[in-house]
Amino acid sequence: MIIGGIQKLSLIDYPGHSAAVIFTVGCNFRCGYCHDAELVLPERHPTAMPIEDVFNFLQKRQGKLDAVVVCGGEPTIHDDLPEFIHSIKQLGFLVKLDSNGTRPDMLSKIIANNDVDFIAMDIKGPLWKYSTIASRPVDGDAIKNSISLIIKSGVDHEFRTTVVKELLDVKDFDEIGKMVNGAERFALQKFMPAKTLNPQFTRKFAYSDAEMETIRKKMSKYVKMCVVR
Ligand code: SF4
Repeated sequence: MIIGGIQKLSLIDYPGHSAAVIFTVGCNFRCGYCHDAELVLPERHPTAMPIEDVFNFLQKRQGKLDAVVVCGGEPTIHDDLPEFIHSIKQLGFLVKLDSNGTRPDMLSKIIANNDVDFIAMDIKGPLWKYSTIASRPVDGDAIKNSISLIIKSGVDHEFRTTVVKELLDVKDFDEIGKMVNGAERFALQKFMPAKTLNPQFTRKFAYSDAEMETIRKKMSKYVKMCVVR
């Protein structure tokens, strides 16, 4: 693992629980709207935090924090992620994993080990738009397999999409809805045109609140709960 840093307390990253957030370094996507350029772009990567420091911190928070969230970058690009998450779980924390869904093999291993309590997966858009939005070649079958694995896993989960007007049409959510049909929860994330990985995205637009509500209603036909945030 390469750890870029820890947020010592978050009350919003794990629904209903206090959590520490661990940021892993590196990502296999280059979404223009990404707000984590320092974790994604190799030339901006922070100095890695020693793993011993991560576990020293977590041991001190046992009994004080409910959960640990592992996010990125993209955590599943690190082959030792299952062992890392297992070690966190052994300390007694709830574990949430945030992923872009490109490594279903990795998700499968972590789920089979019973080491994860919540999985949040990004849905970039309809599959045919993935490579454009992620600015990288994308294996659509891997994305579909991850979605299916998560929905069938019995693990609490959320799918979420950052909604940039120039990238996603309202009608795209019919296809997105079919992709995640039967999921527990879906979050529509308002696009914030600031501090974006691709500077051109500071000139792109978010949908209005009324338009987001239209999309929320559309998605509610496919998932148990859809929220806007
Ligand atoms: S938004 Fe895209 S580029 Fe940024 S961390 Fe997530 S998957 Fe990687």
